[in-house]
Amino acid sequence: MKAGIVGLPNVGKSTLFNCLSNAKAQSANFPFCTIEPNIGVVNVPDSRLEKLESLVKPERVQPAVVEIVDIAGLVKGASKGEGLGNQFLGNIRETDAILHVLRCFEDDNIVHVDGSVNPVRDKETIDMELQLKDLETVDKKLEKVKRASRTGNKDAQKEEVALLKVKKGLEEGRSVRAISELTAEEREEFIYNLQLITDKPVMYVCNVDEKGAVNGNQYVEKVKEAVKDENAEVLVLAVGTEADITELDDYEERQMFLQDIGLDEPGSAKLIRSAYKLLNLQTYFTAGVKEVRAWTIPIGSSAPQAAGVIHTDFEKGFIRAEVIAYEDFVNLGSEAKVKEAGKMKVEGKEYIVRDGDVMHFRFNV
Ligand code: GDP
Repeated sequence: MKAGIVGLPNVGKSTLFNCLSNAKAQSANFPFCTIEPNIGVVNVPDSRLEKLESLVKPERVQPAVVEIVDIAGLVKGASKGEGLGNQFLGNIRETDAILHVLRCFEDDNIVHVDGSVNPVRDKETIDMELQLKDLETVDKKLEKVKRASRTGNKDAQKEEVALLKVKKGLEEGRSVRAISELTAEEREEFIYNLQLITDKPVMYVCNVDEKGAVNGNQYVEKVKEAVKDENAEVLVLAVGTEADITELDDYEERQMFLQDIGLDEPGSAKLIRSAYKLLNLQTYFTAGVKEVRAWTIPIGSSAPQAAGVIHTDFEKGFIRAEVIAYEDFVNLGSEAKVKEAGKMKVEGKEYIVRDGDVMHFRFNV
């Protein structure tokens, strides 16, 4: 699962990306590796993992990860192939969620591509490019569907209705995720598989200066007002300041710097957790003496699906799962104690895994 960072040039995207890639310096439990210059795998900070580690004392610990892609080159006119735009729009299509960075800081030394700081206008510029790209996709699809629809094909007729709703919404400047005329069935049946860019879940990252790191500023307020109907998270992050902090060698020094600006943890940690949520992901744990590990599954996964993340054979040969609620594990202190207390549950194929479950799988090979 991937989250893509988008935004106009000079709003702080690469600084954010580098900040995440340097996050390793902020906490031992926070490694990062860069797959390609613009793709990184970031560990998801999770205090529960540290707690399990302290109880089980395993040889190693493996946190959950998310992939972050820095999508540069998005400018006005990108949907028409201006600059490198078109290729990058292709990159966005491959992501599962979008982190939209908005410049909410003033700095006369950093040129704004449109001449002034105005995050709401910037957001609209980017949204419009993405909507135009989606419109292109929808128009192409419509052409094919209309042909089938004219021959009397009932499914094609239904599809045409759904696509026309999307087309109208996009032409009015709305993102697909906000087109309320679409029914859940239409989305599921006809729209979801088009992988439209403005249908992906989005989170707004307001890049503020140091003074705004905790409570934001007037620009952030304007962003919040502008997106209030989108049901999207607005996260405040002093990207430049955090990048400076990651430059410091000493852990204690970094903590002090963070406390000085009023933060108890780096905003980037919060961002990663939010991105994980935005991707609709949750975590279950395995807690053995060799390894304590956080595994990532989509919310709503069944026990066999969760097992399949470890190995496909686990899913195919699934017999049952032994499940301990995270709170029970921590309160009682060990698997043995949980068993003694009769709190380990045996669950079958239908079990829907809950966030934080500590699990063992039994399976046939
Ligand atoms: P991108 O084009 O969106 O990737 O933007 P960059 O991350 O390259 O940032 C553009 C410029 O703005 C760089 O010179 C950064 O150092 C600077 N910058 C990024 N974030 C901040 C910030 O929060 N405050 C200030 N004053 N400058 C920033």
